[in-house]
Amino acid sequence: MTRVTLLAGGVGGAKMAEGFDMNKDVELTIIGNVADDDEFHGLWVSPDIDTIIYTLSGKINRSQGWGVSDEGHRALDVLKELGKETWMFLGDRDFGLHIYRTERLKNGDLPTSITHDISKQFGLSSKIVLPTDDKVQTKVRTHNGWQTFQEYFVRDKCIPEVLELHYEGLLQSSINPEAENSIIGAELIVLAPSNPLVSITPIIEIPGFRNALQKTTAPILAVSPLIAGKVIKGPADKMLHSLGYRSDVLGIAQYYQDVVSHLLIDNQDSGFLEDISSTGIKTYCTDILMKDAKGKERLAQEILNIFHSLEIKR
Ligand code: GDP
Ligand code: CA
Repeated sequence: MTRVTLLAGGVGGAKMAEGFDMNKDVELTIIGNVADDDEFHGLWVSPDIDTIIYTLSGKINRSQGWGVSDEGHRALDVLKELGKETWMFLGDRDFGLHIYRTERLKNGDLPTSITHDISKQFGLSSKIVLPTDDKVQTKVRTHNGWQTFQEYFVRDKCIPEVLELHYEGLLQSSINPEAENSIIGAELIVLAPSNPLVSITPIIEIPGFRNALQKTTAPILAVSPLIAGKVIKGPADKMLHSLGYRSDVLGIAQYYQDVVSHLLIDNQDSGFLEDISSTGIKTYCTDILMKDAKGKERLAQEILNIFHSLEIKR
């Protein structure tokens, strides 16, 4: 058994999580992103965590990669009729989970233990750990001023250019002991091919997190979310560009330079190998597109093969 700890956002993170979750030789802990969380209709919604929960419990809507399958929108229709804004799609079945979480939060339960209980009830074998129990929320500045992350991502469909990011509450937050232990006790740490700016950074920058990454003896391997300078889905390439980073695998290497020891890029980007080596990160090429379940399983296995081939594990 290899103890793998995966840092993950939503859709890209969940694909990687599923690959490791399928592997019988892996004991998987996923540290998810809570900085996309927000309140809708009085309910606390945690989109990235729920995407992972729905994926690993088989409830996910496979064609869109998020939300629940066989979903309805009757509750949302009522809210619309009552004059509420309904650009954030929350399905009828999905609402059940938000009601459960919100009620428990109101009773004073910690987000970590609520997530633990949902995972258990939904039959997950992998463990989901929150990086913090404190409230951290990504805010996005565009030409329209400061927006919440979901206003930018869902309502405005990532169209406005991102001029600045702010992780509200980050400096006052602290790492969850479970997250710290899963970093220090891991044999391998993987950064999923999630959005570096809004999925991975709000995890890594939680006070205490970098310290844990420095303490661990595990190699830290990132999978590039970009292939040939483009995302598979989402705004990561556009955001990197508008915030002054290179939007290619060299940009990813530079962005993660002080955190990761190993990087996995696509065969199409093999031309960057030499440039990346100057960052000191050991880089490998393979097919990093996870088209289907087999693709996820294969990529997770290839990462484990790299891990087992390392003579000095870091
Ligand atoms: P979100 O929270 O739902 O936006 O999802 P994440 O932040 O976890 O992941 C978004 C990133 O996943 C995007 O930048 C995509 O390019 C990347 N991504 C999605 N599918 C794949 C894939 O199959 N392979 C790789 N390498 N990246 C992927
Ligand atoms: Ca997200």
